[in-house]
Order: sequence, then C-alpha cells, then structure tokens
Amino acid sequence: MSNYEVVMGLEVHVELATKSKLFCSCSAAFGADPNENICPACMGMPGMPAILNKHAVELGITAGLVTNSEISPVITFDKKNYFYPDLPTGYQITQFFFTNM
Ligand SMILES: [Zn+2]
Repeated sequence: MSNYEVVMGLEVHVELATKSKLFCSCSAAFGADPNENICPACMGMPGMPAILNKHAVELGITAGLVTNSEISPVITFDKKNYFYPDLPTGYQITQFFFTNM
C-alpha cells in the first residue's frame, strides 16, 4: 500500500468556435489571405492592451462544467515580454494565483 496520493494536471488545447480571436476583435475565420485578419494587438505589439473575448471565456467555462471540472473563480493573464516560439503574441494564461474566494 502506497502512502502517496497521485495528483495529475492536464493542459488541454482546444479551438473554441468564436467569430473573433481571444485577445482582439480580429476575425478568427479560416480562408482569409495571409496577414488579413491581424491588428497591433494580435501581433503582440508593445503597449497594445489585450481585450478578452467574453464568448471564448463562456465557452471555456462551459467546457469545464460539462466535464465536471472545478472552475477557478479567479483567472489572471500575464503579458510576457519575450518571444517564445509557440506564444508569439506574448500572452500567457495562468491560474497560479488561484485563491479560494
Ligand atoms: Zn487582432
């Protein structure tokens, strides 16, 4: 008998059916010409604020609820100021600051 409790976390990547991107109002539709649906915010230009897509948050929470997941009451976003190959816009979501509110 083990004295350890196995705890696992999953990082799940999904594409939500939104009409616009997560951090700006640019279209998320496929089929446009290259660099057509872009703006300074989604290009990660310095100083551009992220405007969170409310519908994406609603869909994400819904996905969590239907999978009987615990939904954090607090979600924060940190803007990273360095280039990372799979994070070119410089935004990273984290629930590191989770608190029981
Ligand atoms: Zn954009």
